[in-house]
Amino acid sequence: MASIPTATVSRLVTYLRILSQLDEAEVTRTSSEHLAGEAHVSAFQVRKDLAYFGKFGTRGAGYSVQTLRQELMRILGLTRPWNVAIVGMGRLGEALAVYPNLARYDFRLRAAFDVAPGKVGRTVAGVVVRHMDELATVARDEELDIGLLTVPSEAAQAAAEALGAAGVHGILNFAPTVIDPPPGTHVEPIDFLAGLKRLSYYIQAPEPVPESG
Ligand code: NAD
Repeated sequence: MASIPTATVSRLVTYLRILSQLDEAEVTRTSSEHLAGEAHVSAFQVRKDLAYFGKFGTRGAGYSVQTLRQELMRILGLTRPWNVAIVGMGRLGEALAVYPNLARYDFRLRAAFDVAPGKVGRTVAGVVVRHMDELATVARDEELDIGLLTVPSEAAQAAAEALGAAGVHGILNFAPTVIDPPPGTHVEPIDFLAGLKRLSYYIQAPEPVPESG
């Protein structure tokens, strides 16, 4: 299969959300034009993104919502459960642990880790917070696939390496630092403060023009 652009993968996630909303509204058929309108891209882009993965829909008749949704779930690897751990059970880690939509796509919270004596041993969202020293054992027993990294920046690289060494291949990094992916892992950064800074750039008041003369 050709190497898939990251932007295409991001758009597939958007198309899946739109298809899920259509399915919930009991709409049975859709078109690349409709998906394009909802995703704010061109219909050509939708067709091009889907064409990386084969032939979907029928010319002139569009797509079956349920079939295309199922295909996108398969392409995105969402037709199987993923076992998730949270590393760093502070404010953000706890908030993610109790977020109800985590399980909606079968992301199952199986473990949580910290190093602080006040955190280790507590139960959050039905999961006992374990010490990082137990990561390798728990990762094996719980068959962990994904780590949500919510530690302070300075602890992020080492925690990512511990996850990688324990066979956890996917890391969602919330710490505001760039992580060098450990061998065999894929790291996805999430940074809402960076989003705020971009927003600030776009909405800032224009610089006043100095009066001449
Ligand atoms: P916090 O201080 O409340 O929690 C951090 C937790 O990590 C603590 O419980 C601490 O004991 C634990 N920890 C420290 N070192 C560790 C290690 N080596 N292994 C395991 N656990 C360890 O911080 P917070 O407010 O929850 O923020 C957590 C991280 O997320 C920070 O890096 C913060 O900058 C970042 N953050 C990101 C976003 C985002 O949008 N991406 C939003 C908020 C916070």
